[in-house]
Amino acid sequence: MDRSISRPLTDFRQSISTLLTSERAGSGHDVIVLALDGIPLTLARAHWPRARIEGMDSVFPSTSATAWLSSLSGMTVEEHGIPGVVFRTRETGLINIYRHHNALDVPDRGNIFADAVAAGYRAIAISADLEAAPCAWLDVLLRGAERIGRDRFYAGDTAQRPEHIVESIRAAVRRERDKSQQPNLIWCFVEVDRHIHRHGYDADVLRLLDLVDALAVEWARTGAMVIAHSDHGLVPTQHDPEIAAAIEASAHEFGCHLGGAGRTRWFYPEPGDRERMLARLQQRFAGIARVCASEEMFLAGSEILYRVGSVLLIAETGQFATFDGHRFDHGSCLSDEIEVPFAHWNGD
Ligand SMILES: [Zn+2]
Repeated sequence: MDRSISRPLTDFRQSISTLLTSERAGSGHDVIVLALDGIPLTLARAHWPRARIEGMDSVFPSTSATAWLSSLSGMTVEEHGIPGVVFRTRETGLINIYRHHNALDVPDRGNIFADAVAAGYRAIAISADLEAAPCAWLDVLLRGAERIGRDRFYAGDTAQRPEHIVESIRAAVRRERDKSQQPNLIWCFVEVDRHIHRHGYDADVLRLLDLVDALAVEWARTGAMVIAHSDHGLVPTQHDPEIAAAIEASAHEFGCHLGGAGRTRWFYPEPGDRERMLARLQQRFAGIARVCASEEMFLAGSEILYRVGSVLLIAETGQFATFDGHRFDHGSCLSDEIEVPFAHWNGD
């Protein structure tokens, strides 16, 4: 595959904006966007034969909170300031983004919902599985949208068959389309990632993708412009208790806090300890993870450098620390984590 054709994830907003103001949209057609958490480009290409698919490069770290925000707002990680799951803020200290309910200082530069309203659409976010963790980040992500929180696809109490999940998606989107005569932008979130963490890209995920292709074609035939996109892929990751212990021991040895996002972790050493910590960790994690200064991955001078701390640990193989029962994870820089689809079904 030609990597040079991939566009940055931050281009997603502009692509939607172009559709919203296109001639076809001007004649009152709905725009339906399926946000499928955890689907890599390779799998989209294999299972969506009737879509036109472009590659997009996810952000670093390749983690949901960071990537969805860049995607919908068009802001880089440095611009929105959300590096991932556990990080430091000046106001509160160390936070977990999914449990944080106070301000996050994310600038409001609009997003796909604001663009849709400006173009005369009703802007709807079927937040669905995201409502399993209501938090300030989610409020920021969905700013400007009419938020519909009642549906659950993967975050329900019991596991559902792919046929049932796709039927629920179809029903939720139809319900919202039927509510108004105005053209709709409907962004619908489906957290396939929850299933993939535990089961990988098994037959159920592949079946879901096949059914999504059929559903998208069905919607496109009703005149809708149908898009599917994703935030990152996942890669096989086996929990290694020795690596987990070595990460904890590193923080303890330097008396510092630890944060991170899945396959990328970071440390907050005192400035005077940093060089020594880098050297120590490079030796300790050789062949397992890349150890580097955070300026190597983030723009110098940006506030994000305060938030992520100064020493990064980025998994390079399938052995790392992850949650109990998880077999796949994300957050680092392997191509299956980074390359994601922008798929468009035209209906012809
Ligand atoms: Zn995700």
